[in-house]
Amino acid sequence: MSVFEAMASNGAHEQVVFCEDRRAGLRAIIAIHDTTLGPALGGLRMWPYKSEAEALRDVLRLARGMTYKAAAAGLNLGGGKAVIIGDPRTDKSEALFRVFGRFVESLNGRYITAEDVGTSVHDMEYIFMETKYVTGVAPAHGGSGDPSPVTAFGVFQGMKAAMKTAFGSESFQGKHVAVQGLGNVGRHLIDSLVKAGARITVTDIDEEKCEKARRDFGAAVVAPDAIYDVACDVFSPNALGAVINDTTLPRLKCKVLCGGANNQLAEERHGMALREKGILYAPDFVVNAGGLINVYVEMEGYVRDRALRMAEGIYNTTERVINISREQGVTTAEAADRFAEERIERIGNVKRGFFGGI
Ligand code: NAD
Repeated sequence: MSVFEAMASNGAHEQVVFCEDRRAGLRAIIAIHDTTLGPALGGLRMWPYKSEAEALRDVLRLARGMTYKAAAAGLNLGGGKAVIIGDPRTDKSEALFRVFGRFVESLNGRYITAEDVGTSVHDMEYIFMETKYVTGVAPAHGGSGDPSPVTAFGVFQGMKAAMKTAFGSESFQGKHVAVQGLGNVGRHLIDSLVKAGARITVTDIDEEKCEKARRDFGAAVVAPDAIYDVACDVFSPNALGAVINDTTLPRLKCKVLCGGANNQLAEERHGMALREKGILYAPDFVVNAGGLINVYVEMEGYVRDRALRMAEGIYNTTERVINISREQGVTTAEAADRFAEERIERIGNVKRGFFGGI
């Protein structure tokens, strides 16, 4: 498949930039999907891709996802993403990230980078030496630092909205939530859940994290694979993608699915399967947008309260998406896509026409 064919098959991307610097060992691809709403923002992933084609496929898919996430969150941002082909455990260097930063700078703000799988705040600092078009920089440099508390707060808002639809009340009193993954997002989320009166069952492949949740929050702990069998009101995936698949779906015994993990559905058809099973899915990119909201606020001069206030809006967005799904008879995942596409269309039109100022 040619590059243009790949750009089209992944949903009409605007621009793909291939970046190479042999001395620094850099091979990177920057994909800009859609800049109707604003500059394309999306993280920089570092991964030992087996081939260029695999890296291209991944960066195109991820860039498109960012367009939808930003649009649904009501942000003036487009979607983009970047990948560095390399092993984050062995191939990182100051030169690598600074050269990448120079490529980002050359795009003059059309693409803004951030951390992602395989990159850290530390790596962003090297990029920051070469360009201002980077977010998620350490608070010491005026950045917003770790976005996960805001992500978890947003997931909690989305969960409340989904509970209101599923149970007629957003109260967690007497509700049982099964939480998969106690990392940055999961541990903040269980804090809110327990404070709100929920009973929690948790799992993680890291036994220490489970033990801490048992000690601090009185959580029941199950083995990683057993979490799918827990009879609960809400199942919350906060670890990996593709956890809703042909194997796990028949085992689920919840009424609501809502968590911070990206790309929870292995395939689109699993959205329909959830609906048929009577499980209300709060779409992942709608409820986990708090991290993106956080870096957006950083671009304007970071104020934590403002980030939290904006993330509170995830409640209304989730509710709106659920309503669209009901009104139009589509899955909540499809409804979320439509909601994002409509906003891009509507706001794109706002910018039409000439209003003076040559
Ligand atoms: P993290 O790496 O801090 O936490 C992930 C946790 O999942 C770890 O504790 C890990 O041990 C655990 N885990 C891994 N495999 C598991 C398994 N098979 N079963 C149970 N637990 C397992 O990551 P995070 O920052 O908390 O992010 C969690 C998810 O949310 C990811 O999918 C991420 O892409 C997504 N997300 C995060 C943010 C953010 O602000 N951090 C924003 C948007 C989306």
